[in-house]
Amino acid sequence: MTTSRPLRPMPEVELVRDGLWSIPVPIPQNSLAYVLVYAFELDDGIAIVDAGWDTDEAWTALVGGLETIGASVSDVRSNLITHIHPDHFGLAGRVRDACGGWIGMHEADAALIGDRYANVDELLSRSKRWLADAGVPGEFEWDLRSASLKIREMVSAVQPDRLIADGERVDVPGWDLRAVWTPGHSPGHLCFVAPEARLLLTGDHVLPHITPNVSVHPQSEHNPLGDYLNSLRKLAAFDPDEVLPAHESRFTDLHRRLRELVSHHLDRLEAVQAGIEEGRTTAWELAEVFPWSRPWADIEPFMRRAAVGELLAHVRLLEEIGLVEALAGPPTIFRLKARSPGPEIAARLGVDGLYDPPDVAARRTS
Ligand SMILES: [Zn+2]
Ligand SMILES: [Zn+2]
Repeated sequence: MTTSRPLRPMPEVELVRDGLWSIPVPIPQNSLAYVLVYAFELDDGIAIVDAGWDTDEAWTALVGGLETIGASVSDVRSNLITHIHPDHFGLAGRVRDACGGWIGMHEADAALIGDRYANVDELLSRSKRWLADAGVPGEFEWDLRSASLKIREMVSAVQPDRLIADGERVDVPGWDLRAVWTPGHSPGHLCFVAPEARLLLTGDHVLPHITPNVSVHPQSEHNPLGDYLNSLRKLAAFDPDEVLPAHESRFTDLHRRLRELVSHHLDRLEAVQAGIEEGRTTAWELAEVFPWSRPWADIEPFMRRAAVGELLAHVRLLEEIGLVEALAGPPTIFRLKARSPGPEIAARLGVDGLYDPPDVAARRTS
């Protein structure tokens, strides 16, 4: 992820609407600082969206937050998971053990649980091939490959009790809550829309300042950026009064943020084409063409791997629309077949209605 401004300190437990609360749960040693768990009051308990990392500190914050709103963890009837990442899903098993409620998530993320968090040897050897294909130099290979092993300890690899499908009215009695499948940041990412309350819960799909990581990696090999842009377009159909993201803070202007995110990726698609034209041919060489928040040499292994994955997501999209070809490696070598400016690509992808080319964006913010 890239940050455009410093993160605010840990917020308080806050009342969002009558019967709906926001509970911050800390994420250890991570610049995101906290995940916001949303708690819906029910006649007979509480439904929560996301849970937090599987650490004692997170557990204490979640239990304490529920006490602040007059509930206990044993009151949790359901835990809706926006996506598989450890800061959202990690603590779900411990919550279920304490309350007996159900865990719900989309099947595309549920399908990844065993592979990602339990049988990691296979995934590590696929990661090795993936890094070689990306052109990662040998001296960085192990650091990048093993970077997520520590994180894996923050997750209990439990299976969900229910699968939640796109468009489904979710079983949260007393609330009109519908699932919106928004693949991209993860294959099974879900947002939740509450039309009566005029609220949209966006998980990590749309955050107010941070650009969510969208990566090609060994568990997401198709065209995640194509999916992500489509999922941004899908949200353009909604007009909530307030957006409830899983990090940072709530905000109001959904459509403005959708435009910023679409434009950010279209600018990067142009940068990748320019990078290939300048003679950078592997994912590793190309990863430096993006402006990261720190110099490339100062970025730690886990974030570099995410950066290479994000670069690959852009290249893969260009491949899908016929602008780039990939010559099998390792390492895979990319060649530019044709160059296309942002507005043309946006029109092809059907997101031109959400795209501000750089000159327009500059006028809008000045
Ligand atoms: Zn995430
Ligand atoms: Zn997250």
